[in-house]
Amino acid sequence: MKYILSLDQGTTSSRAVLFDKQDCIAGLAQKEISQQYPRPGWVEQDPEEIWSSQLTVAKEVIAKNAAADSIAAVGITNQRETTLVWDRSDGRPLYNAIGWQDRRTAALCEKLKQQGHEPIIREKTGLLIDPYFSATKIKWILDHVHGARQKAEAGRLAFGTIDTWLLWKLTGAKRHITDPTNASRTLLFDIHTARWDPQLLDLFQIPPAMLPEVMPSSPLDAHTDKNLFGRPIPLAGLAGDQQAALLGQACLQKGRVKNTYGTGCFMLLNTGDEPVVSANKLITTIAWNINGKTRYALEGSVFTAGAVVQWLRDALGVIHTAAESETLAASVPDSGGVCFVPAFVGLGAPHWDPWARGAILGMTRDTTAAHIARAALEAVAHQVADVLQAMAADSGIPISQLQTDGGAAANNLLLQMQADFLQIPVARPKSVESTARGAACLAGLAVGFWPSIEALSDHCQMDRVFYPQMKPDKVAQKRAQWKQAVLRSKNWNNQQENTTP
Ligand code: ADP
Repeated sequence: MKYILSLDQGTTSSRAVLFDKQDCIAGLAQKEISQQYPRPGWVEQDPEEIWSSQLTVAKEVIAKNAAADSIAAVGITNQRETTLVWDRSDGRPLYNAIGWQDRRTAALCEKLKQQGHEPIIREKTGLLIDPYFSATKIKWILDHVHGARQKAEAGRLAFGTIDTWLLWKLTGAKRHITDPTNASRTLLFDIHTARWDPQLLDLFQIPPAMLPEVMPSSPLDAHTDKNLFGRPIPLAGLAGDQQAALLGQACLQKGRVKNTYGTGCFMLLNTGDEPVVSANKLITTIAWNINGKTRYALEGSVFTAGAVVQWLRDALGVIHTAAESETLAASVPDSGGVCFVPAFVGLGAPHWDPWARGAILGMTRDTTAAHIARAALEAVAHQVADVLQAMAADSGIPISQLQTDGGAAANNLLLQMQADFLQIPVARPKSVESTARGAACLAGLAVGFWPSIEALSDHCQMDRVFYPQMKPDKVAQKRAQWKQAVLRSKNWNNQQENTTP
């Protein structure tokens, strides 16, 4: 057995990655998938396209690189929270997959908050009430698809996040399962007892018969249907994408933290065996469950990160490629006093202000595109610093280094700013496939392909570590200026726009 096959089902693409014994990538196939926006704030995906794209890339990477006989196990990682309901009898979805970004249940969430349900939900699930999480999406399907609620109550429907859907398909409709990392994003799962919570099911009016069985992230104990790849292959590991990336970055010990710089940023801090309750509006989540042992994480998301670079490219037209943001920003020694808050869709953690809007402050007659580009990169680093500082305050854990991945982590200047603002080293691994690697780790550990989780940390090799260079008093001055700018961007649009669909 030479390989672990990792299936990485993301929002914009399905990927299949083969890892060899040395944890090196031996093959990769990828297929873009579409998203639909039927109304403002609504985001849907075709469940059959999700499945067929994932199967296609799995078959492609197997055909190109190896026979199915040389795959020891399959690991799965997936976009989280995205919600599906299907009929158990024929596997037909009742409705499209409702995407994690979908805001159609905003009014319901607002109502639940006003009714005072947030504290108990926070205590049990570690989450906030928000349309982002699955529960209100399930309720929406049950309330809007004709006959759905009766069928669900009769035990004829299955709910799943994308992992569960893929596992249903991969096992030839034999298994209806998930893992705690995915379950902990539904608003229905008690992260302390690691069980579906009857009180929350009641609150969201979700029949328990719809729910998948929760298995450890590793071992998962399922097999692919023999007709798919010519023989049954163990489906041995599973985790949601951000948790998989935490593991894939070898953030195994308490206090290790990773940040993914994509369209937005997702930061997770390993808090060890105990869930940490946030006083700074971060989320408490399950990092993984290996052999029945749960690890917890604090999580914070920044909504606009790499997207501000896209904005420089597509809206301002001052760069042609994302990579040019670095050259343009590096052409000036500093931002010339410009401070840019890219709150295009409000601000996420730790501010959570849906009414904040973008602001560029401190411009003078000398301000150039280069200053604005530099301020845009600084803004990404400032937002990440805000989340990390909230995490440090919440957890009381001293954070000594930040691991990075994601498309925008290719930007050296950005990571140098990050190290400066945080005054800690910021490390970028050689391989950016941390999400796929995390799922491979979970599967490989389960079948003894790799001996131990600790052995895997040696595999995560660094490309470059960025050390703080900026003087602390200068950092303090820049951070203070950023905080001022954030204050000015907040609560801007509350009278002018109603975003509730
Ligand atoms: P996602 O998974 O959210 O689609 P990716 O991890 O693929 O995101 O990263 C893409 C994002 O990173 C885009 O928003 C893009 O603007 C940004 N990006 C890519 N390369 C660079 C770069 N060299 N410098 C800054 N931003 C970059």
